[in-house]
Amino acid sequence: MYPQTHFLFPFFIALILTEFNLLSWKLALLAGTVGVLVDLDHYFEHIMHAKKNKFSLKDTWNNSIKLHKFYQRSFIHHWIGAVLIASILLAALFFNWKISLALAIGYYSHLILDHYHLKGKKLEIKIGPLFINEYHTEIILDAILIVLVFVLVGLI
Ligand SMILES: [Zn+2]
Repeated sequence: MYPQTHFLFPFFIALILTEFNLLSWKLALLAGTVGVLVDLDHYFEHIMHAKKNKFSLKDTWNNSIKLHKFYQRSFIHHWIGAVLIASILLAALFFNWKISLALAIGYYSHLILDHYHLKGKKLEIKIGPLFINEYHTEIILDAILIVLVFVLVGLI
């Protein structure tokens, strides 16, 4: 899934919880941001495994989207990371359960989205040096999430 989907999905879930006064809009933004930041491990894996341009964000992106020269997901994308993060978030519950909940929504929604495999036609374009190779179904999901977010914040 692409960064915008990793932001919109947890942001939408957290916004629903703001309707019940369980979270604030700032924590909803935190959930969305964490959803995107989980993929930072791709950059660290790129630095460790790339033969050239180790620090290139462009090469990290293109390897992740199209080239797949090596695996870019670290342990935080797998069950061991899920268990480790769960232990940290459970401990954090006692300090600030709302922040812990927002972090959990961001992190676990990311894992759910990454392990849900879409099928069908793809939008395959290049924007400058960056490959975009996105399923139409993900674009539709993003559009639905944007409309739902607008409904929740009262713009529609
Ligand atoms: Zn991911």
